[in-house]
Amino acid sequence: MTELTKHEILGWLHENHPSRLQKLYEWGDEVRKEYVGDAVHLRGLIEISSYCARQCMYCGLRQANRALPRYRMTREEILECARQAERLGYGTVVMQAGEDDLLTAEWIAEIVRWIKRETTLAVTLSLGERRHDELRLWRSAGADRYLLRFETSDADLFRTIHPHRLAGEPGRLTLLRQIKRLGYEAGGGVMVGIPGQSFESLAQDILTFRELDLDMIGIGPYIAHADTPLGSGALRPAILASEQVPGNEAMVYKMIALTRIACPTANIPSTTALATINRVDGRKLGLKAGANVVMPNLTPALYRRMYEIYPDKACIDESATDCSQSLRGQIHSLGRFAGEGQGGRGEIETLTSILPDVSSRFVELRA
Ligand code: SAM
Ligand code: SF4
Repeated sequence: MTELTKHEILGWLHENHPSRLQKLYEWGDEVRKEYVGDAVHLRGLIEISSYCARQCMYCGLRQANRALPRYRMTREEILECARQAERLGYGTVVMQAGEDDLLTAEWIAEIVRWIKRETTLAVTLSLGERRHDELRLWRSAGADRYLLRFETSDADLFRTIHPHRLAGEPGRLTLLRQIKRLGYEAGGGVMVGIPGQSFESLAQDILTFRELDLDMIGIGPYIAHADTPLGSGALRPAILASEQVPGNEAMVYKMIALTRIACPTANIPSTTALATINRVDGRKLGLKAGANVVMPNLTPALYRRMYEIYPDKACIDESATDCSQSLRGQIHSLGRFAGEGQGGRGEIETLTSILPDVSSRFVELRA
C-alpha cells in the first residue's frame, strides 16, 4: 500500500494539468482493480423517511425547510422494496432517512430482523446520529453496516454547518468509532466543495478515512439547495478565495482516486450526487477513478421526489427496474460486471491478503 503523505495529497488536490490528472485517475483505477477487482456492487437505496429533527445548514431535509412535503414509508412498503432488491439481483439494501424520532429503535429492529430472515441481503442503515443503545439493538437484530458521513474533518467548519448541537453530544467521528466497535462495517465520507472548505482540510479528510480504517467511504460534490442557509448564501463561512475547494467534478474524481490509493480495500461508491452534476458520464468517470459501488434507487416514485436533499437529483423519474438496467449497462460498457453476493469489505480483505503490492509502480508519478 502507498502511504501518501499530506503534502503529496495536497499536491494532487491542487493539480490541474489534464494529462497528470489522467495519470492519477489511472492510478486510482489500477489500485481498485488489484485490490477489489472488476466487480461493481449494487446497493439498493430505500429512502424510508424525509422527516428530520436536525438543521444541517446544507441539506434540503433540514427541519426548518417548510417548503418540503414530508413522508414516512410504511413497514410493508419497505419490505416490498427489499423483496424487489432481491428480485433485481442486488446484494444489499441501504435504509436511509433524516433523523426521524418516529422511526423508533424497535420498529427499525423488527424490519431488519424480517429482511435478514426472509432474504439473503446485507442490511446497511443510514439513519443519522442515533444513540448507542439503538445502534447496538440494530446490530443484534442483524444489521451489517452503518453509514454516517462526517462531512468534513475541519472542526470549525463542522460546527458552522451543524448548529444547535447539544453540549456533550458525541461527534460523528466518535460515533463512527462506536459503530466499528459494535461490529458493523462502518461507512464515513465527506462532501466536496462546501463553502468554507479548504484544500488543507480535504487532505486531512483522506488521512482521517485511513486513520478510522473505514470500510465504506462516500464522497460526493456539495450541491447548493436554495431552501437552505448555505445554499441561499445567507450563511457564508469565511475563507480566502485561493483556499476554497471548488465543488466541481474534477475535485470529486481526484478525491475518489486519492482515497482509493490511501484506502485500497474500502468500498467506494460512485455517488448519485456525482451523477447529478454530470448526468452523462459522472457515474462512469467515478467508477474509472477508483470507485467500485453504485447505489440504485428503490424508493417508490411517489416519495422519491420528496427526498430532496439537493435539487435536480439524478434518476428521479426512473423506475427501479430502469435504474437497475441503466446502471448494469454502464458497468458493462466499462468492461466490468455487477458483483454477486453481499460485497462486504470482509470478503475483499480475505481475497486481497495474498495479493502483491502493485501501487508502488506509481510512487514516482509526482516526483
Ligand atoms: N440523516 C442521515 C445523515 O445525515 O447521515 C442520512 C441522510 S443525509 C441526507 C445523507 C447525506 O446527504 C449526508 O451525509 C450529506 O453528505 C448528503 N447531503 C446532504 N445535503 C447535501 C447537499 N446539499 N449536497 C450534497 N450532499 C448532501
Ligand atoms: Fe437531517 Fe441528515 Fe439532512 Fe442533516 S444531513 S438535515 S441529519 S437528513
